[in-house]
Amino acid sequence: MTTPTQTEAQTDASGTSAAAPAQIDGFHLVIDALKLNGIDTIFGLPGIPITDLTRMAQAEGMRMISFRHEQHAGNAAAAAGFLTQKPGICLTVSAPGFLNGLTALTNATTNCFPMILISGSSEREIVDLQQGDYEEMDQLAIAKPLCKAAFRVLHAADIGVGIARAIRSAVSGRPGGVYLDLPAKLFAQTMDAQVGKRSLIKVVDAAPRQLPAPEAVQRALDLLKTAKRPLILLGKGAAYAQADAAVRALVEQSGIPYLPMSMAKGLLPDNHAQSASAARSYVLAEADVVVLVGARLNWLLSHGKGKTWGGDKAAGRQFIQIDISPTEADSNVAIAAPLVGDIGSVVSAMVAGMGANWVKAPAEWTAGVYERRDKNIAKMAETLAKNPPVMNFQSALAVVREVIKANPDAILVNEGANTLDFTRSIVDMYLPRKRLDVGTWGIMGIGMGFAVAAAVVTGKQVLAIEGDSAFGFSGMEVETICRYNLPICVVVFNNNGVYRGTDVNPSGGKDVAPTVFVKNARYDKMMEAFGGVGVHATTPQELSKGIADAFASGKPTLINAVIDETAGTESGRITMLNPTVGKKS
Ligand code: ADP
Repeated sequence: MTTPTQTEAQTDASGTSAAAPAQIDGFHLVIDALKLNGIDTIFGLPGIPITDLTRMAQAEGMRMISFRHEQHAGNAAAAAGFLTQKPGICLTVSAPGFLNGLTALTNATTNCFPMILISGSSEREIVDLQQGDYEEMDQLAIAKPLCKAAFRVLHAADIGVGIARAIRSAVSGRPGGVYLDLPAKLFAQTMDAQVGKRSLIKVVDAAPRQLPAPEAVQRALDLLKTAKRPLILLGKGAAYAQADAAVRALVEQSGIPYLPMSMAKGLLPDNHAQSASAARSYVLAEADVVVLVGARLNWLLSHGKGKTWGGDKAAGRQFIQIDISPTEADSNVAIAAPLVGDIGSVVSAMVAGMGANWVKAPAEWTAGVYERRDKNIAKMAETLAKNPPVMNFQSALAVVREVIKANPDAILVNEGANTLDFTRSIVDMYLPRKRLDVGTWGIMGIGMGFAVAAAVVTGKQVLAIEGDSAFGFSGMEVETICRYNLPICVVVFNNNGVYRGTDVNPSGGKDVAPTVFVKNARYDKMMEAFGGVGVHATTPQELSKGIADAFASGKPTLINAVIDETAGTESGRITMLNPTVGKKS
């Protein structure tokens, strides 16, 4: 507990000297409330009115990681939430700083990551009368529709309740982003230190287990028993739940092939005998009963219908959906057997219900799946073995694939278009929660924030595989990486532009095409500018050595990996979402 800010000897009316009760201010109540709940790290950016809060938090033993832009601090908080199941904290100044953090808060909510955005704000009296305050903005009203919950604290005595409500809202049920509005005046308010201390709340059982109804488990098992071509689909909700042993038991005891969504890769090792990753199109089109484990049937899964899912031919397919949110079922297609509860509890109940005599998935189905998978893996091995004169995505990623195989504990951060697609399919993951990427929105700009959080909260080596366009969104944070001397190796796949670097201005004018960057840029020099290691790699051998040196030294490193500028397709694998292309198809 923080030492009270002041204890003053005062003289009372009778002339005798009496010690006034020790006081505590709003700053320290916020810090104490966070610490009381096991939160030891804040990601943020100092400025009015929270500069002193950042200083005091550090003085009180919290880790205060300052960024160069709030969006990246917010992304770091979101990733910390995903990795730890504790809400990641992002602290910003008012109006513009708040808005910069809001993108990350909304992205966290979309991805079901627990996070709290704490922003200082201007005075209510002036904001509400729109009298024009410094950085005036009704932040609470703006945040509300964009996150899971939003609260404001006006009195120091309510700080404990405010933070408890924020924590509970962020992590209970479906996790998400919470906004906490703290007006400038609140920080300087003082109150009796003992009363203040008693007003703080240590949240008990913030994310209570949610057991599934036994009849819902039975309904799901009855359906699964009838399946001739069953499939398990693991989503990042399953990775977040940290129920790794239960999920493995479900897969292995049922003998059902499984597909991991990108951030669920590694929940079971990608080289597991039941992985159907390399036969994705086949299993999605053919499966007759699909068990969704913490995965939503959104655009990433073609909404559970259409060509990807076999079209009319698969009309009889049925879904079992395991999710903590009761309203997720039927959001895109009918769910025959919804299983509402936390993944650990639901999957354990299913495994118990299956018992030792459960008949494994039919061999004619699984054998067909694995045969296709092995064929595709062999095909990919041929491609990866090629060494074209100019490095391309495949020859570069063949290196990264080996690095992760040899260092399965390293955390892989990945963003871009082609860089994302190729990395996801080429680089196998072996351990849970080691892959962080653009998630549900397919957002660009998460790279450096996620990388910093991964290094800070786990202490592990981080490898960020970045498209040159994606890196640009958060590139200035290489200074943050150097400042905190984090073991992060950033590899920028540099093909001179968005998607690729070969577009030309159709009008023949002097401006380059909108998707083209400065040719032959040296991103490695950015890292060198702040004292880190820069590497210019034009061959797989140079790339391999650069990463090996970075892992051995743990020093901040940026490798400018020069890729063939003609490599890469428009929008990577989501070309069909471009309106012009979409219209044609
Ligand atoms: P992916 O993009 O990998 O398919 P999604 O983000 O679409 O994954 O889905 C994650 C789902 O997991 C969400 O619907 C969310 O409600 C659910 N979820 C998150 N945490 C848990 C949990 N502990 N138990 C059960 N479901 C969870």
